Order: sequence, then structure tokens, then C-alpha cells
Amino acid sequence: MNGRVVVAVRVRPINSKEREADAESVIQIDGNQILVSSPKDSKSTRRKDAAEKKIFAFDHAYDSTNADSMAYAGQERLYLDLGVGLLEKTFAGYNSCIFAYGQTGSGKSYTMTGTNAPGDQGIIPTICAQLFARIAEEPSAAMSCSVEVSYLEIYAEKVRDLLSSNNKFHLRVREHPVTGPYVEDLVRLATSNYAQVQQLLSEGNARRSVARTNMNEASSRSHAVFSLILTQRQHLAGLDTEKVSKISLVDLAGSESVAKSGATGVRLKEGAEINRSLSTLGRVISALAERDSSSPQSAMVRKTVVPYRDSVLTWLLKDSLGGNSLTTMIATISPVATNYEETLSTLRYADSAKRIQNHAMINEDHNLKMIKELQAELTFLRAKMTSTGISNPTSSLDDQCVPIIAPDGSTQYISKQEIADRMEQNSKLMQEMNLTWEQKLATTKRVQLEREQALADLGIQIDNLNPIGLTTPRKIPHLINLSEDPLLDELLIYTLKPGITRCGNLASSAEIKLSAPSVLKDHCVFRNVDGIVTIESLPEAVVVVNGQRIQKVVAFNYE
Ligand code: ADP
Ligand code: MG
Repeated sequence: MNGRVVVAVRVRPINSKEREADAESVIQIDGNQILVSSPKDSKSTRRKDAAEKKIFAFDHAYDSTNADSMAYAGQERLYLDLGVGLLEKTFAGYNSCIFAYGQTGSGKSYTMTGTNAPGDQGIIPTICAQLFARIAEEPSAAMSCSVEVSYLEIYAEKVRDLLSSNNKFHLRVREHPVTGPYVEDLVRLATSNYAQVQQLLSEGNARRSVARTNMNEASSRSHAVFSLILTQRQHLAGLDTEKVSKISLVDLAGSESVAKSGATGVRLKEGAEINRSLSTLGRVISALAERDSSSPQSAMVRKTVVPYRDSVLTWLLKDSLGGNSLTTMIATISPVATNYEETLSTLRYADSAKRIQNHAMINEDHNLKMIKELQAELTFLRAKMTSTGISNPTSSLDDQCVPIIAPDGSTQYISKQEIADRMEQNSKLMQEMNLTWEQKLATTKRVQLEREQALADLGIQIDNLNPIGLTTPRKIPHLINLSEDPLLDELLIYTLKPGITRCGNLASSAEIKLSAPSVLKDHCVFRNVDGIVTIESLPEAVVVVNGQRIQKVVAFNYE
């Protein structure tokens, strides 16, 4: 099924700060069009331009500027337009993707995740809830459905698994001719109802916040990719068929330039890496847009190299952009004049994404095919390994080369070490594909326990009744938002468990790690004993309570 990337633009409300500053709105929404006027006091625009409006047309233009207006597009409207069809296609066996693009504060997370208020859920939780609702309605006993979930974050070109308890190490992105790009060792958790997915989402989000605080990362600079994998098995007339479809839901990093966000020092140095995924996404979109808007015979089409591999994000989203996926882009913009330049840049981006053609297929018997191909390749590689070739028993595997015929007919020499690596990769992929549902459930349980323990060790608590985001624990003493990140928009809580909680810098082994320059390796200690919390300042550390530097120990009665 060939189809264009669907592009929707959503305009957020003017916020209270902007209202206080009497901010001027430069956006008008007319049907599916967005009209942008130049700011009145703009010095850079010439008088002639100022009177003109720039007009952009999209598949959908959502006016979410005023909740009281008739035109207001709320969360439900977006789900009805973009989510319902997506689920329909998911059950038909297609892969799909929704990604939110826009500057920080323009409404990406609001659109994707939403808030806890009734009717304010974003598109991710609604899709998850509806996916399970539909599975529950499935009338046929011959059909069985299973759902697996993964959640990862890309920060400065490194991939972190948000559902695994091991936060310290970064995962490797690999590519295999049979499977395409994938993240090695990313956990895929088996889930059987919406509540479980909700729990995973909030734990993943909590891990995101924790990692940020501990690693001095800016909240708006990471990309989050949440994936649902639906496997439908059907037993009909003695025949088993299987359809596997994947939904990728992506909340991208803020699209504004680093210069504007005031990054300095380490952040600025990281800036290039941080923006690599976004700038490559821009290049991928424009290469695809150019390719897909020229005639198929043109030299352009044949020459275009799409730079997917230049960044982790685009490599992983390869299928979603110009490949086997039905893809929707939601571009979020701010209505006010101060964001005029960023808004225009977002709209231009969105405008070129409209031209991208995807080629989605029904993924029938996908696993079986892959296992077969992997098996065939493994046999071939094994034969190559044992073939005499030009190998010399005294040289290392790296020096021994084996000829392999490439698909274009040319002969390439590949080292035996590379073949060995490839064989290992193959066996691992096959093993993962052959896991039974029971084995997957067992892994899920183990990872879940490890994750809860890891969060508890950090003193992080997730409120099960209020699963999106975190809430402050009422009965337990805690510290809130220790992050120096001014853009941190979530609540981050460190509870002070009974006993000792230490606080120190990133090089320490303390439970609470802080990154500010004045934080010492051993900075202070909290003791929670019989409802009384004491804070002790360690030698040379500066600890201030209500504006007063404390000398050694201060006690609080927590009750
Ligand atoms: P981003 O993820 O793009 O940085 P957020 O989603 O965090 O931006 O939005 C910034 C603020 O604006 C949040 O407080 C959010 O609740 C609010 N907001 C964004 N879009 C809307 C909307 N359509 N309706 C109501 N509030 C919104
Ligand atoms: Mg956000």
C-alpha cells in the first residue's frame, strides 16, 4: 500500500506568561490551512512582507488555541482523526508510526502523552487502551493476539532502554539484512492489559526523569520512542498464519537551535551530538521529499542517497520514513509572535514531509519468513567459515578472509571475524524469535521486579492509581525537583526511606546524585528515624535550609 506521510499541525494555547506579556498571536487557522502573519514590530521583515501572510496547507490543521471556542481541537479529536485509522491498519497487519515534531513547549508531549485530567489523555495512552479494548472484543476463538512493548530514549546519539533496570549502559544499534535496523538487547515486555502498559509507560517516564537528573541532561533534548508490537495468530482450516504489526510513537526532542536555548559548557559541546539526530531527520525528510516529488525516471530518483545511517534516530526510524509503515507527523506550534521564526521553520519542515511516499505492506508470516532467512544465512556463513578459502591456520580470525558474492555479483572479501560476529548476531536474533509467550512472560516478570527494585533503591515511587507521571508521596518525607534543568517539566521525587539516604556528586556512590559544581562527592546525609528526619552537612559542604547555612545537623519532625 503506497501512501504519503500524513501531516497534521496543531496550534497550542497562549500560556499564562505570554498572556501576561500581552503576546501577539501570529497564527490563524482556516480549514486545513495555517496562515502566519509577520510580527508587527519585526525589524527584519520588510514592510511589504509584513502585510503578507504565509499560507501552508496540511492534511489536518488543529486549532487548540482556546478551549472555550467552538473550533477547539481537543485530545479526542486528534485520536479520532489519527488514531482510529491507525489501529484499523494495525489489525490489518501494517506497521505505523506517529511522530511529534516542534520546538520545546509547543505541545509535543501534551499531544503524545497528555495529562491525568479527565479527557486530557494523549494519543499514546488512548491508542494503548483502544488496542486492548479491541483485542477483548475479538469474537473468534481461532484468533489469538499478543502485545509486546518497548520504550527507549535517544540522548546525544546514545540509546537507553527505559524499561530495563540497567540504566547505566547504552545499547547498540545494529542492522541485519533480514531484520533491518534494530536495537540489540532492548527489552520487549509481554503485556496482557492496558493497566500493565500504563504502568510501563509511567515507569519509563520516571526513568527518563531520573536519568536526566543524574546525568545532567536537558529534558527537552532527548527523543523518546515507544513501540507496541501486535502479533495476531490465526488457526484456520488447519493452517496457522501470523501477522506482526508495529506501532512506533515518537516524542522528538525540541527542534529549536541550541544557541537559542542558552546551552553552555558541557551542554554546548554535547549540542552537536544532541542535534545530530534532529538535523539528520531534516536531511532525510528533504532527501525523501525531493526523491518522491520527482518523476520516477528522473536521474534525481536514482541518485538520491537518503542519509538514514547518519544518526541513530533516523536509522531506527528508517521504515517509518519512506519505508514499510503508515506514518503521521504531528507538527506542534506556538501561536505567539516571539516564536515566529521557530514556527515558520516547523511549518516548512512539515510542508516537505507531506511529499514523502511510504510503501506499507501487510506483515504476514513475518516471523516465520525471518527465521527461515536467518537459518539459511547461518548455514551459508557456517559453510564459509569451514571452507578452506585462503585461510592460514596460524593467522588470527581477523586476517583470514573469505570471498562472498554480493547481490550485485561482485566478489567481496570478508574477514572470518566478521563472519563469526554475523553468526552470533544471527543465532541471537533467531533465539529471540523462537521464544514462547510463556518465556516472554517470565522475562517480563523478572525485568519488572528488577526495575521496581532499582526505582525503589533510588527512592522513586510511582503512584499506581495515578499512573501518568509521578505524584508526591504524602506520608513519606521527600525532596522534589533537585534538577538544575530549567526545562524540567515533570515532577521528580526522591523519597527519604527509613534509614540513611546519602547525597553527593556524580562521581559518588550516593543514592541521590546531583551535578551542580558546588556539590561535593560526599555532600550530606539524611537520616529518617521514627518520623524524624535529620540532615547532616558533611565536611566542607554547603547545605542551606530555608536560606540559612546549617552547621552540622538539623532535625525535622516529619508529622
Ligand atoms: P513540548 O513537549 O513540546 O515541550 P509540552 O507538551 O510539554 O511541550 O507543552 C508545554 C505546555 O503547554 C504544557 O504545560 C502543556 O500542558 C501545554 N499545552 C501544550 N499543548 C496544549 C494544548 N493543545 N492544550 C492545552 N495545553 C497545552
Ligand atoms: Mg516534551
